Amino acid sequence: MQNTPTPWRTVDNRQQRWIVGSTTLSLFVSFLLFYNLTSCSQTTTASTRTTSTTTAASKPKPRAKSGNNTGCDKIYPEPYASHIKTLCKKLPPGFTVVMEPPFVVVGDEAPHKVHQRSAHTVRWSVTQLKRLYFPKDPNHIITVWLFANKTSYVKHTWKFFAEVPSTPFGYYSERHKALIMNIATGGGTLVHEIVHPFVAANFPQCPAWFNEGMGSLYEQCGERNGKIVGLTNWRLAGLQRTIKSRTLPSFKTLTHTTTTQFYDEDPGSHYAQARYLLYYLQEKGLLLRYYRAFTQNHRSDPTGYKTLQRILGTNDIASFQKKWERWVLKLRF
Ligand SMILES: [Zn+2]
Repeated sequence: MQNTPTPWRTVDNRQQRWIVGSTTLSLFVSFLLFYNLTSCSQTTTASTRTTSTTTAASKPKPRAKSGNNTGCDKIYPEPYASHIKTLCKKLPPGFTVVMEPPFVVVGDEAPHKVHQRSAHTVRWSVTQLKRLYFPKDPNHIITVWLFANKTSYVKHTWKFFAEVPSTPFGYYSERHKALIMNIATGGGTLVHEIVHPFVAANFPQCPAWFNEGMGSLYEQCGERNGKIVGLTNWRLAGLQRTIKSRTLPSFKTLTHTTTTQFYDEDPGSHYAQARYLLYYLQEKGLLLRYYRAFTQNHRSDPTGYKTLQRILGTNDIASFQKKWERWVLKLRF
């Protein structure tokens, strides 16, 4: 079934490559870290600019302190007050808690840094994404855990969730109502994961290819004419290699993947192919129209393929793909 209600799988294909202690992996992670550290809300190009929240974020507001934690004794409105009270009871010293609706952000970097990430990355991206796509908030508070480094990430993911992360970057756990991040890897993955609970709330029948295409699109992002835009990123090089090797699946195949096929039978190109299809639509001014048409017509077109034909104005998606591939080969990152 193509539109099986999503058991939200938010792991990236990158995760499968994470084997602790592997030299190859360390090099790979170092490579990705370099790019992730430059992604989202800190990215500027000739056509993009950072938001005013950047400036606001550099002046953290006074915070209440509870023991060795920051933000626990502050007065919050319900339901955040109850959520934060429960959260603070289990926190070891050194954490900072920030209410950032519809999230609560908690992290063990310096308090001003946690506040900065809350405003600079979480609030900025949530505001931008909601304005474009997501009128509904998730129907529960989601905690955004920003662990300062790999050691803290691994240790606390086990302590709080009894899980060993399968990704060095972070993931969304619907079961725990949490985004669990190694924030040392940068804000890009955080924005990617922020997309998922909003897709779940606003487009619960969304197929994996589109859900991950949207998350991946915004993992490298900036602002253009006051709106969030995805920018080219590290996934481009692999996609270009696959196009040149003439092994990229057709868009018909990609859009018809089931959740299992998308994640577990990924030839290594699913995320990038989905991302750069959406990037193409964005650059041609068609993405928002596609999103709206897809969400409205998903019952009759659960894969989004027919809607893609309609938005592109052609039934010949094979010819479109050839044109798109030539376009992708000219992109640079
Ligand atoms: Zn994802």
